[in-house]
Amino acid sequence: MRQLDQMNFKNQRALIRVDFNVPLNEEQQVTDKTRIEAAKPTITHILAQGGSCVLLSHLGRPEGRDPKLSLKHIFTTASEILGVQVQFCDQVIGPEAEAKASQLQAGQVLLMENLRYHKEETKGDEAFAEQLARLGTIYVNDAFGSAHRAHASTSIIAQFFSEKKCSGSLLASEVNAIDKVMKEGASPVAAIIGGAKVSSKITIIESLLDKVDHLIIGGGMVYTFTKALGGAIGNSICEPDYCDLALTLLEKAKSKGVQVHLPQDVLAGDDFSNNANQQVFDTHAIPEGWEGMDSGPQSVEAFQQLLLSCKTILWNGPLGVFEFPNFAKGTIAIGEAIGAATAKGAFSLVGGGDSVAAVKQYGLAPKMSYISTGGGAMLESLEGKTLPGIAALD
Ligand code: AMP
Repeated sequence: MRQLDQMNFKNQRALIRVDFNVPLNEEQQVTDKTRIEAAKPTITHILAQGGSCVLLSHLGRPEGRDPKLSLKHIFTTASEILGVQVQFCDQVIGPEAEAKASQLQAGQVLLMENLRYHKEETKGDEAFAEQLARLGTIYVNDAFGSAHRAHASTSIIAQFFSEKKCSGSLLASEVNAIDKVMKEGASPVAAIIGGAKVSSKITIIESLLDKVDHLIIGGGMVYTFTKALGGAIGNSICEPDYCDLALTLLEKAKSKGVQVHLPQDVLAGDDFSNNANQQVFDTHAIPEGWEGMDSGPQSVEAFQQLLLSCKTILWNGPLGVFEFPNFAKGTIAIGEAIGAATAKGAFSLVGGGDSVAAVKQYGLAPKMSYISTGGGAMLESLEGKTLPGIAALD
């Protein structure tokens, strides 16, 4: 995969697939600017070299030209963040779009309208991709969050640029962070897999069994494993249909020499609410009327000790119902332990959905080596899949 610094952008018009799929409030104001900020280094690099930038992105899942999902709601914020007056084109393809793009001067930035106003985008339509390709002279993919989609702008388009294509710096750092765990992880490697359901994490766990020395299982998944092992789980969340599979995973882990760590104790509540009464139980002896909602103190201590001895740590999924502050202690303590291991030189990657939210909510983000910006793309990478957006750049 060619990198940004291997290309010369002087007098070139970079067609950059960014991920500006940001949340908007009722007044169509951007409520989280992270994704726009994450695209800044690539854009700044190209402008500094004397190039111009045409930005392509999707926003939400519009049915036709839904005005609420126009990218015009983004360009003021994008201008502030990039420090350049971003121009806006209310078309994605066609003569007007091509004329606006071709008039760009070095140092200028043009944001095109929402790609998904055209159904051809998600269909991966080749003719649409070819029309998009006319907007720039070099294709740059910096949308890691969409790299698991074989859409027109994320993958199909790349064929129209032969050698003139590369990854943006965000996409490259995401790939690099995943490789640091999945390909070059220094031992001991630990993965902490939490979250609600075993069913959504099976492929990840299976793929990780070939990469890690330790697998910590946390969150709601614990109780499917515990039930499978014959424990009493009270009212805890459980997927009985997955008990056999849970046992198979434990067998596989054993045969591959991976140590699986399940919590010995849990903090349970007598109701699924923040203000539920709390009690600590042995994970295998949770009485009826109680449900496991966080890791217990002994488990947290054991996990902390283990993590401090690890050199590579992957964290996906919270260790409890972190949205309730009274049941967030385990998740926070594990985040702190990963932070401490990182401070000692370990590489830590946090990725995929709710663990990223937890890390941000509890101020743990600066303590991690890398926090992925791509939910689904990150998960598919951990499952060992080749992402179409990345394959297209090779
Ligand atoms: P996931 O998207 O699979 O990472 O799942 C994240 C969700 O798992 C969060 O909303 C947590 O509240 C939830 N979760 C974690 N632990 C538990 C638990 N013990 N019982 C129920 N839900 C849980």
